[in-house]
Amino acid sequence: MPDPNGFLRYDRRLPARRPVPVRISDWREVYPPAGEELIREQATRCMDCGIPFCHDGCPLGNRIPDWNDLVRTGNWDAAVESLHATNNFPEFTGRLCPAPCEAACVLGLGGQQPVTIKQVEVEIADAAVARDGLRPRPAPTPTGRSVAVVGSGPAGLAAAQQLARAGHTVTVYERDDAIGGLLRYGIPDFKLEKQHIDKRLAQLTAEGVRFRTGVHVGVDVTAEQMRAEHDAVLLACGALQGRDTPETPGRELRGVHQAMSHLVAANRVVAAAGDGRPALAALPDGTPIDAAGKHVVIIGGGDTAADCLGVAHRQGAAGVHQLDLYPQPPTERDAARDPWPTWPWLLRNYPAHEEGGERVFAVAVQEFVDDGTGQVRAVRIAEVTVEKVDGRRIVTPLPGSEREIPADLVLLAIGFEGTEEQPLLAQFGVTRNGRGAVDARGDWQAADGVFVAGDMHRGASLIVWAIAEGRAAAAAIHTYLGGVGELPAPVDPARQPLAAR
Ligand SMILES: Cc1cc2nc3c(=O)[nH]c(=O)nc-3n(C[C@H](O)[C@H](O)[C@H](O)COP(=O)(O)OP(=O)(O)OC[C@H]3O[C@@H](n4cnc5c(N)ncnc54)[C@H](O)[C@@H]3O)c2cc1C
Ligand code: SF4
Repeated sequence: MPDPNGFLRYDRRLPARRPVPVRISDWREVYPPAGEELIREQATRCMDCGIPFCHDGCPLGNRIPDWNDLVRTGNWDAAVESLHATNNFPEFTGRLCPAPCEAACVLGLGGQQPVTIKQVEVEIADAAVARDGLRPRPAPTPTGRSVAVVGSGPAGLAAAQQLARAGHTVTVYERDDAIGGLLRYGIPDFKLEKQHIDKRLAQLTAEGVRFRTGVHVGVDVTAEQMRAEHDAVLLACGALQGRDTPETPGRELRGVHQAMSHLVAANRVVAAAGDGRPALAALPDGTPIDAAGKHVVIIGGGDTAADCLGVAHRQGAAGVHQLDLYPQPPTERDAARDPWPTWPWLLRNYPAHEEGGERVFAVAVQEFVDDGTGQVRAVRIAEVTVEKVDGRRIVTPLPGSEREIPADLVLLAIGFEGTEEQPLLAQFGVTRNGRGAVDARGDWQAADGVFVAGDMHRGASLIVWAIAEGRAAAAAIHTYLGGVGELPAPVDPARQPLAAR
């Protein structure tokens, strides 16, 4: 029986982040472990409210009140079991999820702070590693059926684990030189140290999943070959087509780059250092891309922009501005606009924002300014208003509001336009829809025997959705292959986040 008064006795508390001067001098994670005493206290705040809306807030349907109570009573082994029953990789979501479950916590209804669900989750995930090192659970009997998974992000990996545990032979194909998708070279180590991916990969390997890196499906191996070798194919290629701004004057200048170019280069340097190899942050053609000593301007207000901000400070930027088209959001939920338990529009302060830099809201870039040699020296911005007319976004500059911000390095973090146009699509007979995503039928098939999941299906989204879709697509593939019984399917292809309208 959970403690019905826990939330009255304890306030919401998170572990202290590592001090800014210390953490920006390395690439280690920002949060230290919470410690058992704090996390059991925080789990006690869950009142087991009867109708736990956090379940609906979480696309995986994590059994949050169950494992909160198991942590409260110190029953860690059972908490680990309960969490892994719905989530293949809680060490990723516990570190990185924006926690829509917390926005839906019933405590929020009475003006209380929600339970620190995500922090409890990561502590359980880390306890699992500490206790049995992620014990492999290989299937007792092979089915003799074979599945190819294309793309090794969280969607592909979740599907691979589910299918391997059901007895199918699974091969994951990844064009990059390491497994993990955006978790590997997109998301910086200060949010997710790569040891967490490697530990999970050791478990998947022991469960029989085969990994083939450096294989660009559609280029190095054709769809026809894949179909001949495997009984089903899952496409989980992400939504990596970065949005650009070709119409802005000066876009072609040196020093103006896609944010992902900056992040991937920086993450490769950290990975190389971990292997004892020297490396420079550079584009694939060798052009250096490093914020050291530079005035950096980041355009965009989301996860990618915040990650660039943290990287720029660790590289030793002289100064950083982060520009956002929209006005500064409120710091409290606007119940008229986003009633509980939906995800509210709020000012989100990432740990990277504590580390320095200036955020500028309601501005749009008018020009990237040339220093006379083809290198950017500034961005010219104007204050703007933004409105939606017939679903279209209208941005209106305020006359006389223009000014320049010095810039040696400009990073475009203005979103993604869906999955990339690449040979694999036509070869498998699938097409991008108007949002740049690949539609799936109700059984997750995009073409006969070809399934799709994760960002490639949803458009750029979140890790929790990628894992949920990977699990659900695996369940559909298992059925398609005539597997015995059913695998869990937390979402269907049409499922959307909780919304008021
Ligand atoms: C900078 C950044 C920070 C983010 N931070 C967060 C966060 O903090 N929290 C959060 O929840 N979400 C975050 N996200 C979103 C999250 O990373 C994605 O939603 C998630 O990784 C999607 O998983 P996926 O498996 O669908 O695809 P991805 O992780 O994108 O993986 C797709 C993989 O497919 C491979 N691939 C593509 N085509 C082929 C081919 N033809 N052959 C072989 N391989 C191929 C790619 O190389 C890639 O490795 C962030 C995204 C970015 C860009
Ligand atoms: S995965 Fe995300 S939404 Fe689900 S319980 Fe964890 S933090 Fe909450």
